[in-house]
Amino acid sequence: MSIPFIDLKTQYSRVAGNVEQGLRAVLESGAFINGPDVVRLEKRLAEYCGTRYAVGCASGTDALMMALMALGVGPGDAVFCPPFTFMATAEVVALLGATPVFVDIDSKTYNIDPAQLETAIRAVEADDAKLYPLPKHAGKLTPKAVIPVDLFGLLADYPELLSVAAKHGLYVIEDAAQAFGATMELGGTTRRACSFGQIACTSFFPAKPLGCYGDGGMCFTDDEKLLELLQSVRVHGQGTDKYQNVRLGITGRLDTMQAAILMAKMDIFEDEVLLRQGVAARYAELLAAIPGLTLPSAPAGHLSVYAQYSIQAESTAHRTQLLEKLAKAGVPTSIYYPVPLHLQPAYANLAYAVGAMPVSEAVAGRIFSIPMHPYLTAEVQAEIAKGLAG
Ligand SMILES: *Cc1c(COP(=O)(O)O)cnc(C)c1O
Repeated sequence: MSIPFIDLKTQYSRVAGNVEQGLRAVLESGAFINGPDVVRLEKRLAEYCGTRYAVGCASGTDALMMALMALGVGPGDAVFCPPFTFMATAEVVALLGATPVFVDIDSKTYNIDPAQLETAIRAVEADDAKLYPLPKHAGKLTPKAVIPVDLFGLLADYPELLSVAAKHGLYVIEDAAQAFGATMELGGTTRRACSFGQIACTSFFPAKPLGCYGDGGMCFTDDEKLLELLQSVRVHGQGTDKYQNVRLGITGRLDTMQAAILMAKMDIFEDEVLLRQGVAARYAELLAAIPGLTLPSAPAGHLSVYAQYSIQAESTAHRTQLLEKLAKAGVPTSIYYPVPLHLQPAYANLAYAVGAMPVSEAVAGRIFSIPMHPYLTAEVQAEIAKGLAG
């Protein structure tokens, strides 16, 4: 039997009854858009994450887009984000005519480095690329927002990031597409992903920690005014009347069927987060003895949901060797992410040079991911470790 990278089949066998019942209810009700399950899900997930409000939407990308639109981000604005992330994080910034300003990552957590964020903000404020590498831009940019990404399921350094952002008057938009369910201890309380910043965003793409069976996403906020803006932007800038459009918006709604699926999956989600901890702990034990591997590490007080189990090899050549060994052993692998965003052709207009983001570039050359999901057995993990050691 081949080893899956992510095992959605075993998960389905646990939730099938409730998923099918939920879908049948939607089919019989005919409320395919904005049905009662969407509102129920929003309430349930807001409560789970510890925020006042949630707004279901069509994807993680739309969630980020709606957040930027609700905060009024547009041309002339600088939005700071890490280059070591999925395309969407910076794409929405550029689509709205704002300018992504990349800030390099911390070499241990792979998340945006708060100290470099501060330097980059100062560089934009002074319009001086000698202070920090800046994108090519016309006219002076206004620092407007930062989008920290909780990469691979580990929360970014919010205590530091929120303090830098507050000092410079920036909005914070949490990109928690990979981190739904992750936690950190903060001031004596446990804080969950999607509870940081003015607006937090997540994705329910099937392979994410909480995935549906299609596309889906959600925004979270504590601010009632932002809630109204997000709800309006989600449906073509709708006003209080359905046929009154008070601003530009998008077709950003979450399907009722996907909401019903997510309601069923939430019943087992906390158990799955625990199972992921066990799988990660077993990997740590099995792989500790293999020389030259840098395993994922969570800072004290953090709980990662391991959207990916990502390992660093010693060099690009070493990674190539390891990937070949794993392929021979029938173990599927992936590289998240082989090219940091500042060097992607889509952002060529920003004219970033090779070497501008050294940590992201080094990590992109050495990182790879092995199978990770709640249903990985000790036997299969041993087989994967054997393949890696091979
Ligand atoms: C997956 C992902 C997104 C986009 O989510 P979609 O639902 O695929 O649109 C955004 N940011 C990060 C970091 C992601 O991993």
